[in-house]
Amino acid sequence: MALIVKKFGGSSVANAECLKRVAWTIAESYSEGNNVVVVLSAQADTTDELISKAFELNDTPSKREMDVLLSTGEQASVALMAITLEKLGLPAVSLTGWQIGMNTDSAYGSARIKSVATERMKAELDRRRIVLVAGFQGVNKYDDITTIGRGGSDTTAVAVAVALNADLCQIYTDVDGIYTADPRLVKNAKKLDEITYDEMIELAAQGAQVLHSRSVEMAKRYGVEMEVLSSLKREPGTKVRGVNKVEHTKISGVAKDANLARVSIIGIRDEPGVAFKIFRVIANAKKNIDIILQSANNNSANDISFTVAREDLVSVVEILEENKSIIGFSEIKTSDNIAKVSIVGAGMMSAPGIAAAMFEALYDVKVNIEMIATSEIKISVLVNENDADRAVSALHEKFFD
Ligand code: ADP
Ligand code: ASP
Ligand code: MG
Repeated sequence: MALIVKKFGGSSVANAECLKRVAWTIAESYSEGNNVVVVLSAQADTTDELISKAFELNDTPSKREMDVLLSTGEQASVALMAITLEKLGLPAVSLTGWQIGMNTDSAYGSARIKSVATERMKAELDRRRIVLVAGFQGVNKYDDITTIGRGGSDTTAVAVAVALNADLCQIYTDVDGIYTADPRLVKNAKKLDEITYDEMIELAAQGAQVLHSRSVEMAKRYGVEMEVLSSLKREPGTKVRGVNKVEHTKISGVAKDANLARVSIIGIRDEPGVAFKIFRVIANAKKNIDIILQSANNNSANDISFTVAREDLVSVVEILEENKSIIGFSEIKTSDNIAKVSIVGAGMMSAPGIAAAMFEALYDVKVNIEMIATSEIKISVLVNENDADRAVSALHEKFFD
């Protein structure tokens, strides 16, 4: 008998038919004698629809109230699944983040999980109940509801798996595994049997939304084996773990992130402390920055460009303008017509020429590179958004065909 955590995403529980199909998958595992904990997302586009409803009423809703609102999507899913399982004669109980003791900090909308209480879940499992946990939500020290960031139910699942010391954490979704590129974008993308935590963290961070990157970071830290598999097909999916059992190619995947904007600060002084001042004011406002590029202009003036999430563009520019006299610059230019395209692979550390091959592939399809960033296991380029899909296909062809 094993303890298995299974997470089903929004499209897997979209309607009655999907709920019934998932209920059978749960029933099968339960009747094999396993203890089963199920984490669910909100149905289909529920989260987006709730956001739209709020913004129809107020274009600056408070984050606290948004979390109260958005958490209802997951709450509805677990209740509907419990009702579906009841009909099959299976004992199940739905629980919200608060009921399982999913404790988070107070960063509404992007809260971090601090601890997960296990008493309630264990008591229910001891009674041989199927435990249905609402994903994406927690509670802070003020007893207020929080949410942990878009796509966060994957992280709920891993946190529950860690807390209960589960044998396996299975993430069921609308594709049958992790591919060498988004299979919706690249038709001949190949399914991977396995991928390392580090590679998957990097792919997710570079835009492959198949897994929430924080879920893989947590799985790595606690050694939880994850599997991504289809909620429709009964086939093995892709294992995410510490080391690959079979030797891999140099590159494991290509990813695209179009949710980016670029900020260029023109005419800053060429002296120590300027970069510090710029990034300190942005950090104080808790905004993340990604690729940074400094270019020397002439003897006394430089430009610094960097990327931010598109939704942060307006506020980052405001912060910089407010601090113009402290930082010292002549103007700010912005662009939100950009995307980041990346190749990821642990094998690139020991393979020279990967960057050259990447740039050649982009040159061949006449895609201009605007910025470049590298780490040990990834190379990212910033390109015009209109070129991004072409760039992804060209890179996939170069490294996988
Ligand atoms: P869920 O609602 O189940 O959490 P998501 O939409 O968050 O599902 O993630 C699944 C989607 O991730 C797929 O439909 C696919 O388009 C996308 N995706 C992006 N990159 C990849 C990749 N490398 N492998 C598989 N799927 C990917
Ligand atoms: N429902 C939330 C979202 O749409 C969380 C999740 O699906 O993982 O982002
Ligand atoms: Mg997801």
